[in-house]
Amino acid sequence: MDLTWAAQDEQFRAEARDWLAANVPRQPLPSGDTAAGFAAHLEWERALHADRWSVVSWPEEYGGRAASIWQWLIFEEEYYRAGAPQRVTQNGIFLLAPTIFEFGTKQQQDELLPRMAAAQDLWAQGWSEPGAGSDLAGISSRAVRDEQAGGWRLSGQKTWSTRGAFCTHLFGLFRTDPQAQRHRGLTYFLVPLDAPGVTVRGFDRLDGDEGFADVFFEDAFVPDSAVLGGVDQGWSVAMSTTGSERGLTLRSPGRFLKAAAALVALAGERGEAATDLLRDRVARSWMQAHAYQQFTLAQVTDIVEGRPAGARSSLNKVFWSELDIALHETALELLGPDALVDGPWTRGYQFSLSGPIYAGTNEIQRNIIAERLLGLARR
Ligand SMILES: Cc1cc2nc3c(=O)[nH]c(=O)nc-3n(C[C@H](O)[C@H](O)[C@H](O)COP(=O)(O)OP(=O)(O)OC[C@H]3O[C@@H](n4cnc5c(N)ncnc54)[C@H](O)[C@@H]3O)c2cc1C
Repeated sequence: MDLTWAAQDEQFRAEARDWLAANVPRQPLPSGDTAAGFAAHLEWERALHADRWSVVSWPEEYGGRAASIWQWLIFEEEYYRAGAPQRVTQNGIFLLAPTIFEFGTKQQQDELLPRMAAAQDLWAQGWSEPGAGSDLAGISSRAVRDEQAGGWRLSGQKTWSTRGAFCTHLFGLFRTDPQAQRHRGLTYFLVPLDAPGVTVRGFDRLDGDEGFADVFFEDAFVPDSAVLGGVDQGWSVAMSTTGSERGLTLRSPGRFLKAAAALVALAGERGEAATDLLRDRVARSWMQAHAYQQFTLAQVTDIVEGRPAGARSSLNKVFWSELDIALHETALELLGPDALVDGPWTRGYQFSLSGPIYAGTNEIQRNIIAERLLGLARR
């Protein structure tokens, strides 16, 4: 692994940094998990798209810059360094899009990707159901073939869909063959949320934002073109999406490098509160953020050389979710009683607590690491 950036990468970094310095909103936007905040974030995402910064690594025909995966990492670093807003389009751009690139037909790619890049279609993730979370293969929502209409009728309920109430589309798994073994009879569907028979009902998160939704399907019709990757093939298609969700596509190191730098600055400001023990924790978090960066650089080297991350994305997931909590916990201790005042560290801490749950719980990731990476016996 060569850690020196090429001249064109440095040039790309400088261009991204200049653009972000000139364009990032001066005031932080309201939370993207509220209706007003979501709308404000969309304006920002459309500005990103207008200058082709919304999907830098995608082909130019879809709104990207055909940047390398290295340059994508550089862009992410600059994005967080500039304090740019969270990406409310992340379910589409970071989770669904890689799966469409891998499994979509040319027609699906041509139709869906440019709209996603432009923040026109806004995607919610429809995995979890009231009776199926960790056990994703236990889903009971179903799709029944409608020969006459040339498509599928969807029924059932999805839940915990992040920002689902503000989205236009949902990707999710539905059971198409009830006789087949659990993993075998599933199909991955792409569903417009305004289709007749679909009802979206938003509900609040623990922090009071309206960021979740239940989605109900009552014989909702979708055409055959809504199937991604083949009928009854949904499990392997979905594993591509979960790999992106757990690995570096969703959580590139830039976010943690920025948080670690902010933590060091906070420790400097709060010199008196910073006991030796706390200083150690600040240093450890900083080192771990940098270790995560090195780990992902090695992982990208592997990917570029044809060794996909596969189950190793579970290692990323456990690492970034635990690091996020450690960073925020240390900040709250430095803040002392000031942590009781609503602010970015306090809000960030609340959200960090959900890290070991979403994207597949850390217990499930540890099972995957034990069985698939360490080769331990399955219990
Ligand atoms: C902030 C946030 C955003 C989310 N966004 C979305 C979204 O957009 N779309 C979506 O579909 N879902 C979303 N979810 C839901 C999330 O994917 C589920 O909460 C998660 O998969 C766990 O499922 P569950 O809640 O049903 O818990 P359960 O599966 O009931 O698990 C409960 C506990 O048992 C443990 N457990 C279960 N099975 C095993 C096992 N075999 N071995 C060891 N331990 C086990 C789990 O690890 C967990 O600790 C989100 C959740 C959160 C917190």
